[in-house]
Amino acid sequence: MNDKTAIQSAKLRQLLSVSKVSLIASISLALFLAYMQQAVVSSASFIVWGSLMVLASLLRAALVYAPKHFDVDYDANVHLWKFRLGVIVAGAVWGSAGFLLYPDNHPQHVMFLIFVLGGMTVGGVASFSADLISAVSFSVLLCLPITVRLFVAGDGLSASMGMAVLLYLGFMIMILRRISRNVYENISLRLEAAAREEKVREGKERYRLLLAHLPVGIFHFDTDLVITYCNERLAAMLRSSVERLIGLDMKLLKEQAILPSLRKALQGEMGYFEGHYLATHSEADGWAYITCAPFHDGSGAITGGIAIVQDISERKLAEDKIKNLAFYDPLTELPNRRLLLERLHHALASSARSNKEGALLFIDLDNFKALNDTLGHDMGDLLLRQVAQRLNSCVHADDTVARLGGDEFVVMLEDLGGHGLEAAAQTEAIGERILDALGRPYQLVAHEYRCTPSIGATLFCGHRLEKEELLKQADIAMYQAKKAGRNTVRFFDQLMQDAVTARVVLEGELRGALVKRQFHLYYQIQVDQMRRPLGAEALIRWIHPERGLISPDLFIKLAEETDLILSIGHWVIDAACAQIKAWQQNVLTRNLALAVNVSARQFRQADFTAQVQAAVQRHAISPVLLKLELTESMLLDNIEETIKTMQALKEIGVQFSLDDFGTGYSSLQYLKRLPLDQIKIDRSFVRDIAADTSDREIVGTIIAMAQNLYLDVIAEGVETEVQRQFLLGNGCTQFQGGLFGNPVPLEQFEAMLKQE
Ligand code: C2E
Ligand code: MG
Ligand code: MG
Repeated sequence: MNDKTAIQSAKLRQLLSVSKVSLIASISLALFLAYMQQAVVSSASFIVWGSLMVLASLLRAALVYAPKHFDVDYDANVHLWKFRLGVIVAGAVWGSAGFLLYPDNHPQHVMFLIFVLGGMTVGGVASFSADLISAVSFSVLLCLPITVRLFVAGDGLSASMGMAVLLYLGFMIMILRRISRNVYENISLRLEAAAREEKVREGKERYRLLLAHLPVGIFHFDTDLVITYCNERLAAMLRSSVERLIGLDMKLLKEQAILPSLRKALQGEMGYFEGHYLATHSEADGWAYITCAPFHDGSGAITGGIAIVQDISERKLAEDKIKNLAFYDPLTELPNRRLLLERLHHALASSARSNKEGALLFIDLDNFKALNDTLGHDMGDLLLRQVAQRLNSCVHADDTVARLGGDEFVVMLEDLGGHGLEAAAQTEAIGERILDALGRPYQLVAHEYRCTPSIGATLFCGHRLEKEELLKQADIAMYQAKKAGRNTVRFFDQLMQDAVTARVVLEGELRGALVKRQFHLYYQIQVDQMRRPLGAEALIRWIHPERGLISPDLFIKLAEETDLILSIGHWVIDAACAQIKAWQQNVLTRNLALAVNVSARQFRQADFTAQVQAAVQRHAISPVLLKLELTESMLLDNIEETIKTMQALKEIGVQFSLDDFGTGYSSLQYLKRLPLDQIKIDRSFVRDIAADTSDREIVGTIIAMAQNLYLDVIAEGVETEVQRQFLLGNGCTQFQGGLFGNPVPLEQFEAMLKQE
């Protein structure tokens, strides 16, 4: 319906609403007028007017009671014109009374006629004010005939009355126009208001439907982060109800991670959150993407925020699934080749930064095909799963165990301590652990199955080699392990391989050496300025049945790394004490002190003091004759603990010498705090005394410093008379070195003493 039609309908409705009353009033007045005028007008005029009035009333009644639905444009217009027709007819019939019911020579009846017609005009104008055409035509048709008749009457009074009626009519029409305009505006406003109301209602309904059926959760919150509205979808996502959620103070949420994005909205910005959520009122959880926007009131102030919550759990699940498929082996759930290469890429970068080595172990099961062929693929799969579990148990959680496919696995080790050989040794040890773990029997349903792996290893440090190249190296090494008879570890690098093999052999032999009594102590004499023997340093030698004499430089480090030094060191102290005891029995040797080298690992043992004390007591020796040689670096490690141990040992009565002095930190500060008896100038300074002025200076300074601290000072590695003279000239009075005697077995040492 357009505006014009709507207004016409409204007019019509208004006209019809009063037309019953006006029709009744019109009929009543007509009857009354007819009654009053019948005696003073001709009966012909009376009958004509009466008949016209009856017809006009019938016509109007028919129109008033006609159907009142004007939905169609055409209807409203047509009905309005029909109504006007009725009004015009009624106006004309009423107007005709001005002629037909005008009584000559009965001024009172004329007055009555004018009075009735005036009243009808006022009533008509009031009833039809909604439609200007109806109202004007009614009043004009009603008043004009009587006016004309009054003028025709010719007398002054009648003319004046006619004039008054005319003025009255003009005035009426002017007022009518205004009333009609007001009515028109009124109707328009009412229609507009109704239309606006309808629009608001529609908007509200649309919004409600949208919120209720949107696939996202929505909530509004105030500046205190309290939920003021939420939709059903949000309640469903959180397995809660709208009633429970409204009023919820989000500052108390179980999942606090979303709060910053909500607060951002309260600061006037858009806030976003993507992550895992945990419902506060229920066990519901999932992944959500939340968008938060500020909510402004009419003045622009922020009164809260609106958040849209998308449940992205399914997407996350799908992503995880894709990631799993892309990066993990579905059978063993181990990383696949792609993930291994990615991790290797990171490992190379971090190794370049830290300068720590890493290793790849390429593992292939021996004779796996035979298992598949005999027991079937199901059993093969079962074995691979068990192998995966065992591999994982052999390495740290940070290391990577991957399956390349078939029966090929790769273990990637990172952050191996030390360099080269040491890293190789660690890799070898883990390789051995894997050999052992995978070599144990498997329970494949009812079958007990045995299988061994062949392992190829390669080390990496930084980006020296490409990822693929490294894998290839480990693969080649694995084939070498196969060639070497399987069930073994092989390194890619032959030199590395040799060194690792040699080390493994040495370690094995070193383990047996103590029991087989292959260790011996050699003695190197220490003398005073008059070359009189003061004692000796006990230096260990390994007399190998095939390789002969092995120097400590070749095995002490390995012994330290494998902790074998603990039992070896224990034996050395015991043997030294036994020797002191033996010397104490002889006048020639009873004052000789014996210096013993002590390793850091050995010194750090909790019961080291007790061990020394037990040896001293077991052999009943004078403890001052036992001198423990420590090195600077080992002392600095944990200075407080060191001082404690040294003091405890001092209480027993043993002596301390600081070996290889000058090669370490030589910090005066700690030298002062340590209960030392002697400083031993390292042989590297002594060696170059003749040639190097700075070494001369260093040696001079060390001696002066020792004297300042009231410490004995002994020079080791003295080979020439020139060296001895220089040392002596600078105040050093004790010497050890080739010039006086090399380390020799006991018999030779004692024979040498006797010669002097
Ligand atoms: P060190 O304690 O500094 O021992 C002195 C080393 O200098 C000995 O080497 C000795 O043979 C050598 N030497 C002595 N005089 C001269 C000389 O005039 N010229 C030259 N060039 N060298 C001389 P050795 O016996 O090979 O011992 C090497 C290192 O092994 C020792 O250095 C010590 O740190 C360690 N060591 C030896 N025996 C033991 C032991 O029983 N336990 C422990 N933990 N370490 C030991
Ligand atoms: Mg020494
Ligand atoms: Mg030394």
